[in-house]
Amino acid sequence: MTDDSVSRLHTVSAELQRAAKLGDHATPTLIAVSKTHDADTIRPLLEAGHRVFGENRVQEAAAKWPALCDAYAGVELHLIGQLQSNKAADAVALFDVIHTVDRPSLIAALAEAMDKSGKRPACFLQVNIGEEEQKGGCAIAEAPAMLAEARAAGLPIIGLMAIPPHGVDAAPYFALLAKMARELGLEKLSMGMSEDYEVAAMLGASHVRVGSALFGARG
Ligand SMILES: *Cc1c(COP(=O)(O)O)cnc(C)c1O
Repeated sequence: MTDDSVSRLHTVSAELQRAAKLGDHATPTLIAVSKTHDADTIRPLLEAGHRVFGENRVQEAAAKWPALCDAYAGVELHLIGQLQSNKAADAVALFDVIHTVDRPSLIAALAEAMDKSGKRPACFLQVNIGEEEQKGGCAIAEAPAMLAEARAAGLPIIGLMAIPPHGVDAAPYFALLAKMARELGLEKLSMGMSEDYEVAAMLGASHVRVGSALFGARG
């Protein structure tokens, strides 16, 4: 059962490589989204040499990952879930990349935590690409100002992240995010999940966030 995750990893990696090549892009980094899965489920991927993982909750990651990071050198941990400002310091301490910077209060909290700790995880600006009511991410029109604010505060913003609306073709949203990143001079694109990572790779994703296609459905 758990060994299956390793063969799925190889399949997904090959599909990403093929799709990116079709789109004339570099193969994206595969973030294995291990939220809700325990250390025993994650370990086969670590044993197989995979090192890039994503979690959506700071507390869950803090309980699971320090021991795994001690056991396996070179783990790169990505925070892909909404971040509350009061957890900014914990997130800065634990994660190498934060994908969900989306509002001034969080920018301020992250800047303070980075200044205090001297650790500066790379960050993505999250955009609410479908302009959906209760989704995270800044509005499309606000992105340039939010980027300027984050940079002024000292956050190393490397790209844009988005989660397109559910149940519709994601491709136009991926294309829009890519266009925004180009216009803002940002190189990295965090887009694509289990259902659409190939499309995202064709459209220039630098990072795809894949959970269930690797680990199976979450309980
Ligand atoms: C859970 C999650 C994913 C992975 O979802 P799958 O459909 O299981 O691949 C990707 N991105 C974010 C922000 C998530 O919360």
